[in-house]
Amino acid sequence: MRYCRFVLDGQTLYGAVEDRDGEPWIVALAEAPEEDLVYQLARAQGISSAVAFAPLPLSGAELLVPVTPSKIVCVGRNYRDHAKELGNEVPAEPLLFFKPPSALLEPGGVVRMPAAAERVDFEGELALVIARRAHRLAVDEDWRSYVRGYTLANDVSARDLQKKDGQWTRAKGFDTFCPVGPLVTDEVAPEVGLTLETRVNGELRQQGSTRDFIFAIPELLRYITAAITLEPGDLVLTGTPAGVGPLTAGDVVEIMVPGVGSLCNAFAADTH
Ligand code: MG
Repeated sequence: MRYCRFVLDGQTLYGAVEDRDGEPWIVALAEAPEEDLVYQLARAQGISSAVAFAPLPLSGAELLVPVTPSKIVCVGRNYRDHAKELGNEVPAEPLLFFKPPSALLEPGGVVRMPAAAERVDFEGELALVIARRAHRLAVDEDWRSYVRGYTLANDVSARDLQKKDGQWTRAKGFDTFCPVGPLVTDEVAPEVGLTLETRVNGELRQQGSTRDFIFAIPELLRYITAAITLEPGDLVLTGTPAGVGPLTAGDVVEIMVPGVGSLCNAFAADTH
């Protein structure tokens, strides 16, 4: 199952994605997940009526963030080489922080670099999408039943503010600092090893394998849900490999994982 969320004729829709001639296409409309309350309300009020749908390439669709999370839980320093490159110890336990849903940005959207930040970094990451309420997962539970699928995220970080503030809420939480997409898939298996690559203006800057996680997905889910109940549609960002670095206005960042797709966003100075 692969799905995306997109706009067609002014309506928000979900689409089933399949490959045609090696390219992902939206081949049919798909059911919206129950947590998309805006969509469900619109449908209940009869606003979301049938539209004339014809298959279209994913690259030609007006894509939205494919999930509507109640929260975005992030894991810091989950790759040894990334912990070291910023001069940090490899953590003994997962290091958790939040990004607010207000930071979400669709594929192709422009990240606004705030004037308050001197250094804005990219962090390419694989993200989990939660399938059902997860509370205090036990060791003997099937963690896969709690994961609907996987998508890509850019954990954009104002590195100077991260150090200056002493905690990460502002540095990681600016509007547009969480690009996510383009789709959700359950057709990949990170535990077997997915290669994540990040390119800046076409130049390879990050290359890591999900086999190199310090804390594997089941450990992360147990650790997170021991403290925080995860709801359907919530996102868990699994951390970034080595190679992060500062961006300048005009840069374009592309994060790729085979089978999950490509998340591409430009960066621009925030002139508001
Ligand atoms: Mg990160």
